[in-house]
Amino acid sequence: MEIVFATNNLNKLKEVQALVPKNIKLLSLKDINCNEDIPETQDTIEGNAIQKANYIKDHYGYDCFADDTGLEVSVLNGAPGVYSARYAGEQRDANDNMTKLLKELDQNTNRQAQFKTVIALQINNMLHTFTGICEGTITLQKSGEQGFGYDPIFQPKDYDKTFAEMDLALKNSIGHRGKAVNQLVDFLNS
Ligand code: IMP
Repeated sequence: MEIVFATNNLNKLKEVQALVPKNIKLLSLKDINCNEDIPETQDTIEGNAIQKANYIKDHYGYDCFADDTGLEVSVLNGAPGVYSARYAGEQRDANDNMTKLLKELDQNTNRQAQFKTVIALQINNMLHTFTGICEGTITLQKSGEQGFGYDPIFQPKDYDKTFAEMDLALKNSIGHRGKAVNQLVDFLNS
């Protein structure tokens, strides 16, 4: 069976391919000659994941899954959320995004936040979604060099380091994306 993973990130593709059953071959967007920007115009993380999976099914005919992730900060009513990548502008710069978020929170003592990943799967004409959440807090300053995005200012609950101070294996084992991928894999295995 072939399923498209709607991503251009070959590392993500390899990582997930290693976890799914052997009889399922994951195809990248490149493998199906999809070189266009897939629309992501919804105003929720879930909506964007579903939009991407449906787009591939509708336009290319393949069963497909797609993911979307955002950082939700409690006192900002869930912002930056679905706009996480371009929080500080269309340049989509991680450092600018973090600087803006730290400024918004200033010295606020409620720094609760969570990362949320939604994976939408279109298979056999049915839609399924899987949600992975990692709770934590926004630190007062950037710390650490690993990872990407908001990792230097996100400290997961029960840990005294930011994601950017952890090795990738630990981040994946407790992180939002890993949790959502595990649910997808369990579903595909069942
Ligand atoms: P995407 O949906 O995976 O492209 O993620 C959207 C945006 O959320 C990224 O551009 C990052 O700013 C942020 N983001 C997603 N996952 C992570 C993560 O694991 N750590 C830090 N930031 C992340």
